Order: sequence, then C-alpha cells, then structure tokens
Amino acid sequence: MPASAPRPWIVMKFGGTSVAAPDRWRVIADIARARLDAGERVMIVHSAIAGVSNLLEALPAAALAGAGEAAAEAVKARHREFAAAAGLDADALLAGIFDLIDRRTAGIGYSGEASARLRAELMAQGELMASTLGVECLKAAGLDPVFLDARDALTALNNADEARAWLDNGAGEDADPALQKRLSGADLVLTQGFIARHATGATVLLGRGGSDTSAAYFAARLQAARLEIWTDVPGLFSADPRLTEGARHLRALSYEEAQEIATMGGKVLHPRCIGPARRAGIPMEVRSTLRPELAGTRITGAPGDDAPRLKAVSVKTGVRLVVMEGAGMWRQAGFLADVFAGFKACGVSVDLVSTSETNVTVSLDPDPGLDQARLDRLRETLAPLCRVKIIEDAAAVSLLGYGIRRILHQLAPALEMFQDKPIRLVSQAANDLNFTVVVDESEGAALAKRLHEELISTAPEGAVFGQSWAELARPGAARPARAAPWWTDKRGALLDLAPQTGGLYVYDLETVSARARAVAGIKTLSRAFYAMKANAHRDVLRAIRAAGLGFECVSPGEIARVRETFADIRPDEVLFTPNFAHRSEYEAAVAFGAHLTIDGLHPLTHWPDVFQGADVILRVNPDRPRGHHQHVKTAGPKAKFGIPLDALNDARAAADAAGARVIGLHAHAGSGVTDADHWREIGAILARAARNFPDVRILNCGGGLGVPESPDAPALDLLRVDEELALLKKAHPRFELWMEPGRYPVAEAGVLLARVTQVKHAFGTRFIGLGTGMNSLIRPALYGARHEIVNLTRLGEPGAGMASVVGPICESADLLGADRLLPETHEGDVMLIAETGAYGAVMASRYNLREPAGEAVI
Ligand code: ADP
Ligand code: ASP
Ligand code: MG
Repeated sequence: MPASAPRPWIVMKFGGTSVAAPDRWRVIADIARARLDAGERVMIVHSAIAGVSNLLEALPAAALAGAGEAAAEAVKARHREFAAAAGLDADALLAGIFDLIDRRTAGIGYSGEASARLRAELMAQGELMASTLGVECLKAAGLDPVFLDARDALTALNNADEARAWLDNGAGEDADPALQKRLSGADLVLTQGFIARHATGATVLLGRGGSDTSAAYFAARLQAARLEIWTDVPGLFSADPRLTEGARHLRALSYEEAQEIATMGGKVLHPRCIGPARRAGIPMEVRSTLRPELAGTRITGAPGDDAPRLKAVSVKTGVRLVVMEGAGMWRQAGFLADVFAGFKACGVSVDLVSTSETNVTVSLDPDPGLDQARLDRLRETLAPLCRVKIIEDAAAVSLLGYGIRRILHQLAPALEMFQDKPIRLVSQAANDLNFTVVVDESEGAALAKRLHEELISTAPEGAVFGQSWAELARPGAARPARAAPWWTDKRGALLDLAPQTGGLYVYDLETVSARARAVAGIKTLSRAFYAMKANAHRDVLRAIRAAGLGFECVSPGEIARVRETFADIRPDEVLFTPNFAHRSEYEAAVAFGAHLTIDGLHPLTHWPDVFQGADVILRVNPDRPRGHHQHVKTAGPKAKFGIPLDALNDARAAADAAGARVIGLHAHAGSGVTDADHWREIGAILARAARNFPDVRILNCGGGLGVPESPDAPALDLLRVDEELALLKKAHPRFELWMEPGRYPVAEAGVLLARVTQVKHAFGTRFIGLGTGMNSLIRPALYGARHEIVNLTRLGEPGAGMASVVGPICESADLLGADRLLPETHEGDVMLIAETGAYGAVMASRYNLREPAGEAVI
C-alpha cells in the first residue's frame, strides 16, 4: 500500500455476550490490536451488556406496576458486578446515567405513562453504560480509544410512524466525508450500536438487535475495508445452533443468502445490516469472541458456490397471518391494490403473500409497533372489501439457498409430517432463494429440526459447509453425538462373516440386552412387552426375555415361535394384539391364556361366546397419528387400527353382553416417535376414556420408541420418557402402565452385510451395487427410511463423492440409500447397512426368486 493511501477502516461490532465481562474486553483489545498492528484502523461498535436491554425494556411496565425501583436496581446491580470484576467504581463512573434511570423510572410511576420516546431514551442507556465501562477496559489493556457518541454521527431517517420513529428507525448509509474527516486522526474509535439521533435531538433506537445495523451504517459511511460482526457463535449456521446441535457451520455466503437467513429468523444478524454493506461492496465476516481463532463466515458478493443447494433452515416465531376471503374477488380488477392500500394506510408491512380465487393470505412479521389498536384499524379498513381473519401465534419455517426450486422434490419426506397438521401458507420467493411454510407456532421448531435432519445435517464438508455446532462447541468431539456404534469395534468379526453373495443380517446380542434392559428400567412401567414382529430371531428373543420383557404377538405364528423357544413360558408373559384376525386365532389365544387385545367391535358382537368370562383389553384409536412415515402411523381417521373414541361405549356394551371384562385400554399411535412426552399424552387420553370402564386397571401406551436415523439426529432419552410417565402415574395412580416397544430394543443391534457386485457411473451418479437389496431390506422403499451405509472394508477412508447404493432387484425402488458420501469403492468390498435389526429380516421376501439375507448373531 503506498504510504500516502489512507489506512483502511475495519468496523467491528461486538454483541451483548462479547462485552459482558472485563475479560471479554481483553479479547476485544487483542482483536483490535492485531488489526492495528496490521496497519488498519479500527472502529468498535458494541451493544449493551447481555441481558441489560431486556431489563431496560421491561422497566416501564415494572414502573407502571409500582415495581420500578427494584427493576432499576437490577440494571444497576448488573453494572456494579461488571465494574467490581474490572476494579472500577460503577457508581462514580455511571453516576449521571444511574440518576437518569432513577428519575425516568420514578416519572413513569407518577405519571402512569411511558411514551415510545421515553422508552427509547431508557433503553439507550444500556449501550451508553457499556461504552463508559468499555473505554476503561480498553485503556487498562494499553489501548487509547477515541470515544464517539454514536448519536453525534447517526441521524435517524424521517419516519412518519410514531412508534417506529423512536424504537425501530433507520439511518443514512452514504459515504460520510465529514465523519471520515472528523476521525482522520484516530486509529481506534469506540462507539455504541443501536442508538441514533432524531431530528429533534432526542435519542432513537434502530430496532432490537440493531447494533449490527449501526455497525453496517458506520462501515458504509467510513467506506470500510471490512465489517466484522463478533458474537457468541463462530458464524452463520445452517440452523440456529442453540436449537439444533447438528447445525452446520456455513463457511461462505452471498449477501443475498445471508439476507434471507437474517430476514427469516436467524437472529445472529439484524436483517437491516446487510443492505448497507452490500450496497457499499464491503465484505462481512461473522466471528466468535469466545473462539476468536476460528475463521467464521465470510459474506461477499461472490461466495464462489452457486450450485442449487439448500444451505439453511430457519424458524421465525411470533408471526401473524391475515386471511382475507371474498367470493370471486379474483375477477375484480384492483382487488389486491385495494387490499394492500389498506395495509399501507394502517402502516402494516406484509411479509409473505399467497392468493387463490377466493382467498388472499398474508403474513406479518413480529413487530413491536404492531399493537392491537393498529390491528383493529386494519380489520376495520379491510372489512368493506372482504372477510378478515387474523391468526396469531404462527411460525414461518424457511428453507434457504440458491435454486431452491430445483430441489423441492427433496422435501417430500420431511413434509409428510404435515399430513396431520395444517400448513397455513406456502410461499416460494421470486428470487428462488427461499421456500417458506407457515404453520402453528407449536409445530415450527419440530418441523425445522426435521427438515434440517433430512436435508442438511449429513451434507459433506466442503466450500459451503464446515463442521457441526456440536463439533465446534466441543473441540475434539466426533460428529456423532452418540457413542460409536458397536459394529466399529467388531469390524474384524463382521468382515469374516460377510458372505460372498447375497446378504447377511448380523445381530449384536450385547446391544439387544442393553436396549432391552433400558426399556425394563423405565421405573414407572409395570410391564413392557417386546413387539416381536420387529425381529423374531430366537437368540434375540432369549436376550430380551432375560432382560425381563414379555412378548407382544400379532399372529399365531408369533405365539408359536415364543412357545417353541421357551418351554417354560407363562401365558401371562404374552400379549396377543392381532388386527383383523380370524375367529380361530382369538379362540386359541383365550385357550392359551394370553393377555388379549381386541381392536374392533366385530369380534365382541359376532363371536360373544369366544370371550365369555375372559379379561380383555380394548385397542383405542386415539385419533392422534404419529410416526416417521405415513405407513407406520397407526392412528387417526385413515388407520385400520383400534376403536374410535366415540365408539367405546358401544364396545363396552358389547363386552358386557358377551360376559367379558374390560381390564385395560390400549393405544399405539405410530412408530419412530422421539418426543419424550408422547406416551404420557397417549396415557392421558386412555385415562380419560377409562372413566366409563370401572374394571380397567391397565393402560397400555403402545410402542414406537424412536431410534435416530442419522448419527447426529437426536436420540430419545428413556429417562425423560420415565419422567413423563411418572407425571401420568401421579395424575392417575389407579392404573398400571404398560408399553410394547418393537424397534427400540433391536434396531441398532442389527446390521445388514453385503458385498459390492459392481460400480456404475451414469448421468453423473455413482451407483454402487450390492449382492442384496429390497428383497432383504424393504424399509427404504416402503417408508423412505434412511439407514446409515458404510464401506466396512474401507471404514474411515475419505469420501470420494456421493453415491447411490442399490440392490440387484428389478425395481427402480431397489435403492438402499441415495446421495451418500462414500470412499472409493470396489467390487468385493463389504458394505454395512446400519440399524437394520428391526423390520429387516422379518419383512424380507423372495421377490425375483432371490433368497433374502440370512441371519446370524455375534
Ligand atoms: P449478539 O448479542 O452478539 O448480537 P445475538 O444473540 O443477537 O448475538 O445473535 C447470536 C445468536 O443468534 C446465536 O447465539 C444463535 O443462538 C442465534 N442464531 C439464530 N440463528 C442462527 C444461525 N442460523 N446461525 C448462527 N446463529 C444463529
Ligand atoms: N442491545 C440491543 C438489543 O439487545 C441492541 C443490540 O444488541 O444489537 O437489542
Ligand atoms: Mg444481535
């Protein structure tokens, strides 16, 4: 750089956590010093100490409720604590500000009023207090900062809207020669985020989280060489890392993509901060003060990767929907113009729009300025044009990335969870960067998690994705949040077992025992029955019985298998739960003396003699389908299982007439459930239904305990299930609780081994062919199930691109896994398909007259 060229400005913004303690300021000083040493000039823009803005925001309400003094004291205490740790005297340094806070708080108390202008003034004190303390910390670290009151540099835009003018304003972003001149002699400037000056001279705010925006304005005004946003996470992630452990670090993004993430709810960046940087062509970096050594996310105009690819999933809560209905309005020229004129007149800004012939639905972003009065005004304004309904508490879940239109088909499996829940609005942005669905707020986080799991969490590392949050947060931790699977330890033995042709299921009995014991260890359960349809291998059954579980059977064949395997089996250890079975099957079960579940009225009304004097359990359809795929949902109006809740009285009458005693109620809503409270909910439904059944003493809450499909998917915590069931038991102590898990004890214990027959490259896809396919494992074809697939021969070798793993069956659906990162793979390699201990061998067929995989235990 020629000696005469002015040294470039670097604007660095530090968020609340980054300034929360004196030792954080030492990190800030180090970061600033490195820039200064490199010949750059530094402007530090910072927030209030973490938590302080929230305290200040709550102050007026506290003052109005007569609790202003204590609330003000909490604000002061936080700064005294900081000062004490820094060896400073808060009461001396901040005397003027503390006094102002006290006077304003008292004033609100007397007058019973807190204007937006006054709220703005109060909240601004958070940044000003942090600044006063921060200057001292930087000096203590040997730096010599110039203090700039941000309000003297940033003038708020004219904003006609009262509340917004004070609380959520903007400022100019043009290059500012006067400011550049004023700071020309400075190397290091310290100023505040979030605050600016109104034309009247009063203080205004730039919106919650607005420090990012301040920094962007300053960067644009100073024509900075870089804008660095320092926060408590090392960059932007593919999902909020606090909610999704598997969220992947994003190494580089375009301004447009970062804008979408910020706008759609990724609060790491204020949505307004990207525009000024983009327009001024200033590169941005998002980095962590807690891990300054990490590179962070770089945001520029040309991030180098614009292949169609999903990069992030975000959720925005607190969204409102305005649903406008009118007959035939679509033919009415200007209808939309009239409607939107109404929004404009009321100062309500619209986010997403969807239209049909009779309905226009728009979403509104959460906005503190959008109060009830304004909504009422909107309703009145629109009333002459259409019927208006406002839906509160919605969440917008967005998928973000270039070319989203071309990858929509990948969403299908994740969107299936919406078969039973309403999607209120779908919107696909015209810029092809964003696909959003609006759902009920309570569903938002779960949907986002699910989409992230299905679509992003296992993407390979590269130019776009870095490590996961879990790996970065715990350096040295491997990506799988769970322990390494058993088959990595027993790899040698498995390689020896692998057959030359066809396939082989191998079950690890230690894992079966451990999982079965974990189920038996759910203290609140009186009984647990293993749903043996999942895996009926005799050695597996032995391990399960040894752990203390009974058997849930659905056919005479299964009962026979149990009786053959265990000569000493007691009828009480068997629970028979058939569906649409022949009369003779019930007769046999009653004769044997097994617990018997009836799941329709027909058996009771048509064969009463079979049940004369018997104790029976009724299977209820709780009308609450759950599960990882439509085909494993066993409740709801479309399921063939169970007695509808409103037919239970008829069932009771039929049981009475037959002379049978109903001693239990049962429901099983589906498989693959990972929410720990599910069985409590089912139990509560059954307990309610049991009010009309004086003899009921058993509630069988079903099975469906979920097993994670990918290494970083969340695992179900049985201790949490137990805690939830304990709540149920406490509320309904008269019932014993039963469960009947199938997948859980055996899924992870099994692997399917098969050798590679050949590799084909076609249309850019690498196909790896195995000696067996859907004839052995039908779950991927039937349920879209995802099973981890590894090359066991070359375990640990680096990935050599994506591959589709297929079998030899003449069906396009004979696809065991698509888009898997696998190493260079050769004929004869042993491939392992994980978590196939449940519903693997038992569902196998001889389709194409190919023998399915055999079974062995280890
Ligand atoms: P600061 O106080 O530094 O401004 P914020 O709390 O405003 O910090 O923003 C950082 C937080 O943003 C992170 O702690 C994280 O929980 C949240 N966040 C939400 N979505 C994302 C995302 N996609 N990537 C990174 N962080 C995110
Ligand atoms: N302190 C303000 C807030 O919490 C501004 C900011 O941190 O960006 O919203
Ligand atoms: Mg922030």
